[in-house]
Amino acid sequence: MSSTVIEVRDLCHTYMRGTPLARQALRDVTLSIAEGELVAIIGRTGSGKSTLVQHFNGLLKPDSGHVFVDGQDIWQKGVALRDVRRKVGLVFQYPEHQLFEESVASDIAFAPRNMGLADNAVDDAVREAMRIVDLNYEEFAERSPFELSGGQKRRVAIAGVIAMRPKVLILDEPTAGMDPRGREDVLGEIQALHDEHGYTIVLVSHSMEDVARFANRLVVMEDGRIVMDGPPRNVFERRDELVEIGLGVPQVTDLMAELARRGYGFPTDVITVGEASEALLPSLLAASGLARESDTPCGGVGR
Ligand code: ADP
Ligand code: MG
Repeated sequence: MSSTVIEVRDLCHTYMRGTPLARQALRDVTLSIAEGELVAIIGRTGSGKSTLVQHFNGLLKPDSGHVFVDGQDIWQKGVALRDVRRKVGLVFQYPEHQLFEESVASDIAFAPRNMGLADNAVDDAVREAMRIVDLNYEEFAERSPFELSGGQKRRVAIAGVIAMRPKVLILDEPTAGMDPRGREDVLGEIQALHDEHGYTIVLVSHSMEDVARFANRLVVMEDGRIVMDGPPRNVFERRDELVEIGLGVPQVTDLMAELARRGYGFPTDVITVGEASEALLPSLLAASGLARESDTPCGGVGR
C-alpha cells in the first residue's frame, strides 16, 4: 500500500483577518496525497489553489486545521520548518522571476549552498538536478539564466528546487504565460519527473487541456473548497458542473460527446487527443477505403 506523504485536515485560511479587507481563501479543506501520485489541483483564478499548496510546506500557517508531512504535524512545537520545506519543494508561479545569479549553475546551487552543504556536495547536487531536468551541464552551467528561452528558464528554476532533493515537488501553474511549444516542453518534463524519476508531484493548473493527459487524479477547487476529487475520467463526467464553475472539459471530450450525440457510435468518455484518434481512425480509414498497416495480414513484415 502506498503511504501518505501530505495530509491536510480541516484547513481554514483568511488573508488580512480582522480587517475590512479580510478574505477567506480556504474553507475546511481536507486532502491527502500518497507517495508516487501525480495530482493536479485545478480551479479558476482566486479559487484558493496557491493558498492551499503554500500550506503543504509550511509557507503559510492555517488559522485552524492541521498539516501533516510524513505523518508529522508540521505546526507542532519543535518541528523544523526548514526540513519540511526541503522535503516538499515548491516551484512558484513565474519562477524565472526568482532567477538572479549570473550563471545557471550558481542559481541552481543557491538552495543547497544555503543548506550548508560542502562545495563538492553542492556541485554534485547541481549536476544531478541539471541531468534530471535535461539541461546539459557543459552547455548550460556557465550561461546567464537571462539569455535562455522561456522553457529553459523554467527548467533552471525547477532544477533549483530539485537540487534540495525533495520528496514531493509542487509546481504552481508551471506553464503560465508560455506559448504552446514551451508548454509542451515543460509538461513533458514534469511527466518525466514523475514517470522516470519517481517524484510525487502536485501540479497546480487552471487548464483542463494541460492536466487531462497525465494526471492520475484531479482535485477541483472552487471558492476555497474542494468540490471534486477523483480520476480525470470521473471528474470530466460532471461536465455541466465544471462549466458552471468556469472550467469546462477538454475540447476533445466535448467534440467526441457531440459526435456521439449525433448518432456516431463513438465512446463518450474520451479525454485526450490520442484517445480520440484511436476511436476515430478505424472509421476514417474505412471511409477512405484504406486500412491500417497493422490491420493487414502482413502488417508487421519488414519492421
Ligand atoms: P488561486 O491560486 O486559485 O488563483 P489564491 O490562493 O491565490 O487562488 O487566492 C485565493 C483568494 O485569496 C483570492 O480571493 C485572492 O484574491 C486572495 N488572496 C491571495 N493571496 C492574497 C494575499 N497575499 N493577500 C490578500 N488576499 C489574497
Ligand atoms: Mg495561484
